[in-house]
Amino acid sequence: MQTNYLKSVSPFKKGTKLYSIIKLKCPRCQEGNLFLVRNPYNLKMFDKMPDKCSVCGEDFIRESGFYWGAMMISHATTTLLAVIIHLVVYTFYGWEIAPNLIAIITIFIILLPIIFRSSRAIWINFFVSYDPDFKEKTNKTM
Ligand SMILES: [Zn+2]
Repeated sequence: MQTNYLKSVSPFKKGTKLYSIIKLKCPRCQEGNLFLVRNPYNLKMFDKMPDKCSVCGEDFIRESGFYWGAMMISHATTTLLAVIIHLVVYTFYGWEIAPNLIAIITIFIILLPIIFRSSRAIWINFFVSYDPDFKEKTNKTM
């Protein structure tokens, strides 16, 4: 019972924006993938998105330059991350510049594909909402 209750109120369950962002799923049907490959460290393919959702047909491109807005999300995420990394490094090394730079650059290079993808997922979730009845609507328009 306890686990069922937790499942029903979890912000990570299907139908929530967090589910779409964390699982990198289409914000409308939450079944189709936002990116062509699952592995974010496939460096040739990590940024490639299909033009449309393979399940509901939602347009992922929407308009040219749509994902410029995702750079603002990415900027906010990396700024917050840099502050956190600095605070951790500060407790061990104080105001030394070298350990800060090494830690921040290393962690950013490692996390770059993940920050890139999640920023795009957050951005498209601002504009597209989950639609549990997408199948009926998709069939009507086809
Ligand atoms: Zn979809």
